[in-house]
Parts: sequence; C-alpha cells; structure tokens
Amino acid sequence: MFRGSIMKSKELFERAQRVLPGGVSSPVRRFDPHPFFAAGGKGCILESVDGKSYIDYCLAYGPLILGHAHPRVVEAVERQIERGTTYGVPSEGEIELAETIIDRVPCAEMVRFMNSGTEATMAAVRLARAYTGRDKIVKFEGSYHGAHDYVLVKPGSGAAAAPDSPGIPEDTVKNTLTTVFNDEEAMVELIDGMGDEIACILVEPVMGNIGCIEPENAYLNFLRDVTRENDILLIFDEVITGFRLAAGGAQEYYRVKPDLVTLGKIVGGGFPMGALAGPRQIMENIAPAGSVYQAGTFNGNPVSVTAGLETLKILDDKMYSSLERMGSHLRAGLRDLLSDMDLEYQVAGPASMFQIYFTEDEVRNYADAKKSDTELFMKYFHGLLERGVFIPPSQFECCFISAAHEMDHINSTLEIAEDVLSHLK
Ligand code: PLP
Repeated sequence: MFRGSIMKSKELFERAQRVLPGGVSSPVRRFDPHPFFAAGGKGCILESVDGKSYIDYCLAYGPLILGHAHPRVVEAVERQIERGTTYGVPSEGEIELAETIIDRVPCAEMVRFMNSGTEATMAAVRLARAYTGRDKIVKFEGSYHGAHDYVLVKPGSGAAAAPDSPGIPEDTVKNTLTTVFNDEEAMVELIDGMGDEIACILVEPVMGNIGCIEPENAYLNFLRDVTRENDILLIFDEVITGFRLAAGGAQEYYRVKPDLVTLGKIVGGGFPMGALAGPRQIMENIAPAGSVYQAGTFNGNPVSVTAGLETLKILDDKMYSSLERMGSHLRAGLRDLLSDMDLEYQVAGPASMFQIYFTEDEVRNYADAKKSDTELFMKYFHGLLERGVFIPPSQFECCFISAAHEMDHINSTLEIAEDVLSHLK
C-alpha cells in the first residue's frame, strides 16, 4: 500500500546506527537482529519498508486508540496546518480540549498542556512538592513515568534493562522512595513515621511498563485512604490509561479519584502531547497563576491540540464497549490456547490492554513480572512478527487494541498465536 524507501530495513538500520545512538530514537524500539522501518500505517495495519504488513498491537506504545491515520483526525490536522503550526499566543482549541478533559476526567478542574508524558510527571512532582512543602516522593518498583531524573529509580519499560542510568546525581534521587505494587503492608511500612515528609505517591493505576498488571480489588482505594490520612497527594499517572480504559480513564474505570492526573499518548491524538490536570486549588499554583514554574515553547501546540480534540470527539461509549469486547475475547482466547496446550502462563490486562507472562506464578508486581522467561517471550514476539502480528518487542511493555481492529483481526491473531505458541519450545 505504501511506497517504502529504496533501502530495506536492514540497510536502513546500518545507516541509522551511524547517526542515531543505537540506530533508534528511543531505546525500546530496538530489537534483534534489527527493527523494521515503517513505510506507513492505516487503521490497525502497520507496513514496513520491506513490503510487509502487520496487525499492530504496539500502536506506537499507546497513543493510537483510533488506529493509524484516522481520516477525521487527518482532515482536522490538515485544516489546522494550513492555518499555522504554532503561534506563541493562546488559541481557542486549548480551551476546548481542556474543557473536554475536565468534562470526562473526574479529578480535572484545570489543565496545563505540555509536550510529553515525561514533562507531565516532572511538573506533577514539582507541583506536589511545592503544594505540600515536602520533598520525598513515592513510586513503585517497575513503574515508568518518563525519562527524567526524579523518577528513574527502579523504572520499568526500556529503562528496566538499565535501571541505574549514569548521569543522575545521587542527590537528585535521594528523595525518591520505591515500594511494591499491590502490597498494602509494604506501603504502610514505608510511610510509617515518615508520612509528613512525603509529597506524593505517583502510581500507574495499571502498571503498563512491566507488561500489564492490574490493581487488586481495593488497592487504589487503599492508596486513596492512606494518602488522605497523611496529607500526601495521590497522583495517577494515566499517560497510558487515560482515555484508554474509559472516557474518564482509570479513575472512572476503578472509581477512585486522585488529586492530580498526568496524561499523554491518546490526549495528543498521535501527536506529541502531555497534560497535567487536577483541582483548581492545586493547579492555580502553576505559573503564571502561581509560582510553580512550568513552561514550553510548544505547550498547547495547535496541531497536537486539534488531533487530540478530534480523537476525543470520535471516542464514544460504543467504541469503549467494543474495545472491551475485543480485549476480553483476545485474552479469553489466549487463555484457552494456553490451557489446551497445558501451558500455565499468565494472560493479563483490562479493557483494550493485554500481555502474556511466561511464568506459571501469579503476577502482582515487578518481582513477579521479572520471573517471566524473557527469552521465551522474544521467541513468541518473533514468531508473531514472522506471521504478520506486531506487538512491542519486550516482555516489559503492554499490548493495545485500537478501535480500528475488528473481531476478524482478533480471531486471525488468535490463530497465529496458536501456531506460534505450539512451536515455542
Ligand atoms: N508515564 C507512563 C505511564 C508512560 O507509559 C510513559 C511512556 O511510555 C510516560 C509517562 C512518559 O511519556 P512520554 O514517553 O510521552 O514522555
């Protein structure tokens, strides 16, 4: 469908390695022997310069909930680009997108737009520290909140491979504490006697950067209670789950309202975007309303805002039901396949998120996830890839379904998965 480069992926990768560190622009994109280079994408199909098509469950690591190049998003963006790509003064779309977010996301009363999820969590931590007058923050082992210094402590995603990045001064992370997801006792122990020094607990409501781990029954409620009791801000990092699990994200899906939320991925409709939202009382501390500094040349970029707004307009209840149905069908199908083959691996995920762990033990946290046989996972990844299905090339990422997928795609994926799983060992 798409005309690729004259060079094929292998040659492009050789050329890329000369000018891009590791041949890629973000670590997780690299896999052996070399990644394929994109020629284009349409709907749920991603095409390579080698002329191959893949059913895409990576979906650019989450933003593409409508699939690639949704015609309405493309048209809205084209119209915007003709009127300019960035202004340096406010534009009406920013208000409309903020109003839409506030309408849907329970904790949101005001929004600050930025350019990535990384920026959003960086600003959230600064705001929480300023608002509470405390320095310590708590995150979870294996949670990933972007590539900035405060949060690169026991991180997940691509950083799981190199958890102690050089270049981060000890002093910068001495106030970043970590604990175990889904473990109430560990959290109580951590904040015992220290509650009045902690500014915030930063949590991915579904741990999406070590595969896909759901919060147990009342775990998010527990976090809500424990933070309230200790005047700690609860920040949901919904860069993945925002607008994915439901229109109001994880806070709607699990019915727990945090103090602040960080958004990214879907909110930019396939363009770079991050956002921080929360109640007026906290958000008005951000400059220039208040003195907590946050700024950016491209903040509220009109192209990203247009794409995000159009995407949110398209996403309706019917789509969320359909995404939920496809997710359940795919997870149930994978579980059936595994059980037919007497393989006791774990299939995880809510709504349109999923992952397989190649371990027989239950996966409730990072330590459990690390028990998965990652070599087997990479065989599974390559098996799928050879047969035309693309998932993220790491056990410690999450797979996504888009509204452009149909049951036929899910069923053919299950047939392919059966073939791959039966040849794994
Ligand atoms: N927070 C979470 C939960 C993420 O998954 C990510 C990226 O994958 C980020 C933050 C960082 O977002 P970005 O890559 O847009 O900087």
